Amino acid sequence: MAQLSDDCFAFGGPMLSVDEAVKLISTRMTAVSETEGVALAEADGRILASDVVAPLPVPPFTNSAVDGFAVASGDLPAGEAGRFQVEGRLAAGGRAATPHSGHALRIFTGAPMPPGLDTVFMQEDVQLQGDGSVLLPPGLKAGANVRPAGEDIAAGSVALAAGTRLRPQELAVAAALGFTEVDVRRRIRVAVLSTGDEVVEPGAPRGPSQLYDSNRVMLATMLRRQGCAVSDFGIVPDDAERVAAVLAEAAKGNDLIVTSGGVSTGEEDHVKAAVESAGRLVLWRMAIKPGRPVAMGVIEGAALIGLPGNPVASFVTFVHVVQPAIAALAGARWQRPLPLPVRAAFSYRKKPGRREYVRAHLRIAADGSVEAIKFPREGAGLLSSLTHTDGLVELPEDISQVAPGDRVGFLWFAQLI
Ligand code: AMP
Ligand code: MG
Repeated sequence: MAQLSDDCFAFGGPMLSVDEAVKLISTRMTAVSETEGVALAEADGRILASDVVAPLPVPPFTNSAVDGFAVASGDLPAGEAGRFQVEGRLAAGGRAATPHSGHALRIFTGAPMPPGLDTVFMQEDVQLQGDGSVLLPPGLKAGANVRPAGEDIAAGSVALAAGTRLRPQELAVAAALGFTEVDVRRRIRVAVLSTGDEVVEPGAPRGPSQLYDSNRVMLATMLRRQGCAVSDFGIVPDDAERVAAVLAEAAKGNDLIVTSGGVSTGEEDHVKAAVESAGRLVLWRMAIKPGRPVAMGVIEGAALIGLPGNPVASFVTFVHVVQPAIAALAGARWQRPLPLPVRAAFSYRKKPGRREYVRAHLRIAADGSVEAIKFPREGAGLLSSLTHTDGLVELPEDISQVAPGDRVGFLWFAQLI
């Protein structure tokens, strides 16, 4: 397990910006060291543990990019059409001898260029003559329609860097290089639990002052999408001793514990009290809305992140705190999600000095530009604000208002989770 020091989340100052929080996380949390070989077909989403160096070039041999006629460019007459006898036929997977000088080879996409031939005329661009020769138009550059060996990936180069989260396209690269397996870090093990006397399991009997637990399935699913192995520790009542016992249990086999609820500064905030008794805890007052404090703790060497109970605050802080933490533990390179510029179709006032996320959906305006329409209500408990929108408008610390027509940055949910 990646053992964390007790004071690893300490920081000076009253408020923590999102960027400072991410920096603290990525500098103070270390990656798990265990790695495993995984078959390509099973490796989607896993984190590469070491560089993949190309043992061969891709493509592995120089080949035709089109169906057509291959020639030596030196045989082409300057500035006029050339008439070539066709000698030989070569399809993908085959081999052929170089035709005699001044002759063209009938060739198909993916077939290897015989030595000496360097240019291919597309079949649509030539005229077949009755006598079996072919008329090649002037003006084609030497080397046209040919894919040189290694033009995609050079032999000996780093084709995939350690820390890459493997997507279908990276798996295709590994396959093109002939690998059957990749060396990846082991999955991060994460325990998830909810807290609160008012929170009950969906489907269970519910008292008049209780609500169903919606955070746990959301957080567990987001964690799985991040490639984590998730253990469910259920709902823990607001009782510091019970919370402490469950946290101690969860810390045993896990790298990270993610909780929701109970981490503010009030007397009913039992996660905070429990972690303080079982390990170390720092409350991060983050300059983020929706957000409220996020608890960062260490219990027996495992990290704990205590998210706010309000579902939207939980969601937003997951994206900005839990995701960078998972990346750090998993040895993945973490990139700040890039907001795409869109036009605001709303006005909004905000507190300077903190970053705010506005739930919005997109539409194409009459002039063709993409516009963000703000969800009409702002409560941090409104789950429907996440289901009726496409993503979050990111309003940076330094601005204090948005007017219709302003350019704002938009983060798609699909890009975030
Ligand atoms: P807390 O952070 O514990 O003060 O909770 C803030 C608000 O979020 C309260 O209204 C809670 O009822 C609500 N809440 C806490 N945990 C959950 C949960 N797991 N699912 C849905 N709502 C929750
Ligand atoms: Mg609570």
